[in-house]
Parts: sequence; structure tokens; C-alpha cells
Amino acid sequence: MISQKMADSINDQIKAEFDSAYIYLSMSAYFENKNFKGMAHWTKKQAKEEMEHAEKLMEHLYERGARVVLEAVAKPAAEFDGPLAVFKEVLKHEQFVTSRFYKMMDLAREEKDYTTQSMLNWFIDEQVEEEASADEIVQKLEFLGNSNSSLYLLDKELAQR
Ligand code: MG
Repeated sequence: MISQKMADSINDQIKAEFDSAYIYLSMSAYFENKNFKGMAHWTKKQAKEEMEHAEKLMEHLYERGARVVLEAVAKPAAEFDGPLAVFKEVLKHEQFVTSRFYKMMDLAREEKDYTTQSMLNWFIDEQVEEEASADEIVQKLEFLGNSNSSLYLLDKELAQR
């Protein structure tokens, strides 16, 4: 059996994954409006991944016989200060998500909940990639600068995701 405390913390994370999806969808809508189709595609794909993460956490609770309780999703920002500001935000957000999974792992260890630890390992590994890919885009934007031609090129590249 999974403890109520552990189940509550996973339910919290389910909400956080939907919050993330909403944040990325809002970024995608912003990029669509600015006609950065590649960046819009990248952030939309990211949003879909976040919803898959929520589902994975929900499955874990179902399998462990715990209730899934959905909370209201937070309203995301609608305006951003250009592509670099958006991807800096993505990186910061993913670092925050990583710290949340570390805390959940601390709890799972405290409770000797080995099944949840094994599930969380997947997410902790996944976060390495999430942070690395956001960081790579931030670095490229910082290197290339804000000119139209460099943004055009990066937009094309991100369309390949
Ligand atoms: Mg996620």
C-alpha cells in the first residue's frame, strides 16, 4: 500500500505536470502569434509530453490502489519578452520541476516505498534531458543573438523536433 502522504505528493505533481503543459501551451500560442512556427511546434510538443507525464503518475496511483484527485490548473503568463526570455523561463521551470522530484524521492526513501522510488527514477532521468535541451536552446540564442536571420534559423531548427 502507498501512504496517504506519498499519494498526496504524487497528486500534487499531477497538477504540476498539467500546470507545465499549460505554461508550454501558452508559450506556443505566443510563438504562433509572432509567427515563429518552429518554436510554437517545440513548445506544443513539450506540452504534450507534460500531459503524458501526468498520465504516468496517474497510472502509478491507480496501480497502487490510491485515488487520483485533480486540482485546478494555474493560469499561465500570456505575454513574454521574446524567444530568449521564453527559453530561459523553460530552463528555470524544468530546474524547478527537478527539485520537486528530488523532494518526492526524499519522501519515498523515508517511507521505504521502493515501488514509488523506481517510478520516480524514470522522471529524475527524464529531467536531465529536459534541462539539457532547454539549456542548449538558451545557449544557442545567446550565441546567435537577436537578429532576424538568427531567429529565423533557430526557428527552422526547432521545427525538426
Ligand atoms: Mg514533466
